[in-house]
Amino acid sequence: MGLELEINPIRHWLPQINNPLIIAGPCSLETEQQAMDTAKLLAKDHRVFVYRGGVWKPRTRPGSFEGVGSIGLKWLQMVREETGMPVGTEVANAQHTEEALKAGLDVLWIGARSTASPFVVQEIADVLKGTDAVVMVKNPVNPDVQLWLGAFERLSQAGIKNMVAIHRGFTPFRESDYRNYPNWKTVIELRRLMPNLPIICDPSHIGGKREYLFDISQKAFDMGMDGLMIESHIDPSCALSDKEQQLTPEALGQLLGKLVIRNIKTDNKLFENQLELLRSRIDALDAELLETLSSRMEIVKQIGKYKRENNVTALQIGRFAELMEKRVKLGVSLNLDPHFVQQVFQHIHEDSVRMQTDILDE
Ligand code: PEP
Ligand code: MN
Repeated sequence: MGLELEINPIRHWLPQINNPLIIAGPCSLETEQQAMDTAKLLAKDHRVFVYRGGVWKPRTRPGSFEGVGSIGLKWLQMVREETGMPVGTEVANAQHTEEALKAGLDVLWIGARSTASPFVVQEIADVLKGTDAVVMVKNPVNPDVQLWLGAFERLSQAGIKNMVAIHRGFTPFRESDYRNYPNWKTVIELRRLMPNLPIICDPSHIGGKREYLFDISQKAFDMGMDGLMIESHIDPSCALSDKEQQLTPEALGQLLGKLVIRNIKTDNKLFENQLELLRSRIDALDAELLETLSSRMEIVKQIGKYKRENNVTALQIGRFAELMEKRVKLGVSLNLDPHFVQQVFQHIHEDSVRMQTDILDE
């Protein structure tokens, strides 16, 4: 069942948009000069519609650069005056929100750590009540679509209609090249539940490194997402936060130029090319199927080692019969054909036994 919140399309608050929504700017505003020099270059690229700059920075551990604070709001106002670009920053409590509204920022966003806290989201929503603010909500750090949805509901109850979701990935649950695991399935689920909600992707915080940004951005467009929020700094090597993932404005321009953007609709109707969208969903689910199988095999290997240490045979027929019965039952309850489930587990089991026999023979 979809959720019937009243949500305006992007062009309602950004009438000049004629492409995907691209938001770019530094992770953190550091000095007036850095803010302005980055903005002037970004403003020359007509694909960039909104300037971002973190002013209050939520850091995982204390002692890192925590942002310049309120003075940064003044720099954002100057950027808008100088370049004409709408500007935005992250707000993480009632006081930030009051200050950002007072400064007349065009866009506010709720960061991943804040979305995970309903109290924080509610206090922000209470301050925003009755305004026509544009509010973007990053996914919570944990892949809980209900928590993400809950934030939109709280904002909606406060009368906010200009809302956008930002997919920035999730804390990885095992070692991964990416800084945050993209878990595209959660995004598909959000799209299904709130088909009117524009969703953009933040490849910077998903990838954590410049080299991954292109692939993640292309994937986002292949999945029918409505734009990107991407970090750009005049000189990433000197950045006070997230230096590995920021692009110079020039490199950002090159990346945007290489992206193939298919059938993007800024009014956020679902993809015209349904087949393409459905295939991307299959690709994402297949990747997850394989990852799950690989995690399963890791455990099988551990069991194999344990059996070797304790001198037990690899094949234990009683356990297999019981497993098969349970899996078929579960499969049927999920609308799968029992014969199909049986065959899949026959194969999985055969390969598990092979792997354990190899371990016992070692
Ligand atoms: C940011 O956008 O700079 C940021 C802190 O992101 P996130 O909330 O996704 O970690
Ligand atoms: Mn950042």
